[in-house]
Amino acid sequence: MPHDRMLHPEFETLLDRAVRDQQEQAWRRQWDYVREASAFYAHKLGRLRDASPSLDRLQDLPLTDKEELRASQEQSYPFGTYGACPEEMIVRLHRTSGTTGRALNLANSKRDADRIAAIGARAMVACGLRPSDRVVHCLNYCMWTGGVTDHMTLEAVGATVVPYGVGNTAQLLETIAELGITAISCTPSYPALLERSLRGHGRHPRELGLRLGLFGGEAGLDTPAFRETMEAAWGFGVRNANYGLSEVLSTIGSQCERTTDLHFHGGDYLFAEVLDPSGQRLPIYEGTVGELVCTHIDKECQPLLRYRTRDVVTVTGTGPCACGRTAWRFRVTGRTDDMFNVRGINIFPSAIREGVEAHPGFCSGQFRIVLRGPGPYDRVEVRAEAAETLAPDRWSEAADAVAELIRKRIGATAVVSLVPFDSLPRTAGKTAWIERVAQ
Ligand SMILES: [Zn+2]
Repeated sequence: MPHDRMLHPEFETLLDRAVRDQQEQAWRRQWDYVREASAFYAHKLGRLRDASPSLDRLQDLPLTDKEELRASQEQSYPFGTYGACPEEMIVRLHRTSGTTGRALNLANSKRDADRIAAIGARAMVACGLRPSDRVVHCLNYCMWTGGVTDHMTLEAVGATVVPYGVGNTAQLLETIAELGITAISCTPSYPALLERSLRGHGRHPRELGLRLGLFGGEAGLDTPAFRETMEAAWGFGVRNANYGLSEVLSTIGSQCERTTDLHFHGGDYLFAEVLDPSGQRLPIYEGTVGELVCTHIDKECQPLLRYRTRDVVTVTGTGPCACGRTAWRFRVTGRTDDMFNVRGINIFPSAIREGVEAHPGFCSGQFRIVLRGPGPYDRVEVRAEAAETLAPDRWSEAADAVAELIRKRIGATAVVSLVPFDSLPRTAGKTAWIERVAQ
């Protein structure tokens, strides 16, 4: 495989078994380190500290969640009792945005920072960024990882990086044109703002000559119409370049040039588990849906064991991709906060969505889950939009078929009623799948 299409071909083309062997070795070192160096885990693990769990036995260890990290930082400010290396080793301090509670302080050693940049660069090369590119980085540099850490990621590709940050749009547009910049790294909503400014001056986005858009930090890119509109306006390739969690790994996943799914790029830094709503580990096969749980296997500061990301992922592929990479592919299809319970079974809205989308001849793909009253619920009620071409005399047949598709996925009864095409509101951002109504 030509080296210019992969940053680490020796790792990125490894078969699953070989990746797993490498992960086991890294994990053994990490486990010995964590149980010695992390006061948080020494306490949390108790007697389990004496065990030597393989990655297969990771389920014997408890899960860790973000609330525990916050509490740990309250107890020992600023890095928390889960900090595992001395202050002398810390070279960078980031803070999370704190949108879901108090900001977390994130510490990285030199080695951590280098590893994060190298894995991020792997993702950017998968997206199509090359050392010959000039890329302007337009995310906020104020403390969060999207700024300087993503900047270092772009630099690690070998591309020429222009640190721009946010604001001052007019100067940005001039800079792109003057410097012959070929790629932009920003949020997916930013190009629309730039386009408005350009068109206000009678100019067209294509004049800027950008060939690649690297996006992260917001939802929306999974909607084909949104991508196509942006690609048509700008003439650049649109890539979801950056799925990650700053407390775990800034760039866990990105698209490659051959699929719109995300590759899991961090296999030599993280061990990933996908758990069903009861906490059981699911095999990473195409079609698996569950919460992504990550364990660091090569981290110095603030290592995490079995950390709950709260993101629900759907595995979309394993084995070699058309791009040559062997890392499994996934989509982020929800949050565990959206989970609800029917007859004792925890259900993700994404499982309902799969049932609704399974037969495009019956449904448009738009739907709502109706929850009446506070629960408990003994069945799931779904309003799904009929496909545009479905004749009304086939609605009842379609509703029954979709109910059966959902039942097979969730193991609980579904009652589906069809509503006319285009009658459910479309939202640009995150759709609220659940409609709570009084009894
Ligand atoms: Zn690929």
